Order: sequence, then C-alpha cells, then structure tokens
Amino acid sequence: MVVNMEFFEEQLSQIIPLAVKWAQEGECFALEDGRPLEPDEQEDAHQAGVLYPENIRICFVRDIPRPVKGVLAEANQSLNFITDTTAGLTLNYGIFIKRSCQNDRYLYFHEFVHVSQYESLGGITQFLNRYLRECVEQGYENSALENEAVKKTEKFKNQHETNGPNEPEEF
Ligand SMILES: [Zn+2]
Repeated sequence: MVVNMEFFEEQLSQIIPLAVKWAQEGECFALEDGRPLEPDEQEDAHQAGVLYPENIRICFVRDIPRPVKGVLAEANQSLNFITDTTAGLTLNYGIFIKRSCQNDRYLYFHEFVHVSQYESLGGITQFLNRYLRECVEQGYENSALENEAVKKTEKFKNQHETNGPNEPEEF
C-alpha cells in the first residue's frame, strides 16, 4: 500500500467533515436496524470501558459498509481502510459486524473498546478528527486508538483463555 502523505495532509480538512457525515448516517442506520446487547455482551462492553452499553446496537451485514463515491471513497481506497475483509466497524453506538464473524466474541470486544473511545472523546466528530489523523500520519496499525483496542482485546483474551471454560470468572 502506498499512501501519498502530502495529498492526505492537504485533504484531511476536506475529508474529515465528509467522514463525520457518513459516520452519522451509518450510526443512524445501525441504531434503527441493529439489536441491543445480550446481558453477557453488556458485561463485556462494560469491561471494555463502555459507560452506556445499553445504548449500543449491533447490526449484522454481509459486508461492512464503506463510502462508495467521491473524495471519501478515494481516501478509503487509498488507505485500504474498509475492505471486503473488514470484520467490524464502530460508529459511535452503532456497531457493524460482518455476518461471517458474528460469533467472534473478541471482535465484539475490540469494537466495544472503540465505543468507549467515542464516549470519552465526546462523539463522532471528536473521535474521527483524532482517529483519521492518526491513521493518516502514523498508519492504521500504529494509531494510538487502534493500538489501545488491540491491546485491551489481547488482555481480555488472555484472561479468558487462562481461566479455562469450566472455571467461574469471578470469585
Ligand atoms: Zn479497531
């Protein structure tokens, strides 16, 4: 993947408001179409740092939605951000999960961490301002917000794998 950094630095101020609008529409769709969390999922969300797990809706889709036209679609393509293999996408309280991954508890957890980031940063505008800037400047894999989600999910995974399936999780 080759990213023309200068191009993106220049375009970021144009891209961010478009991305915010796209994300707001996507969240609306997920909130209307999605299902609320089951009690055990609410527990996981809480553990991921979400303050209001009851606000979350999970929307199952064949492919994760992505911008289809204009500057935003071009940016998505150049950054290789949302692709055919993307398994999950969080837009504030709306979470899209690829149907083929719907039983992946750790994927949900990863997305819950992103929900908590939206909450602590103050919503879609603030989150995307930081997230997109990080992705463009540092690369998707090195972005601090993405890293936090990956690390917290690894930790969660380790806890559950060392506990074993038959042991109670709490004493
Ligand atoms: Zn992520």
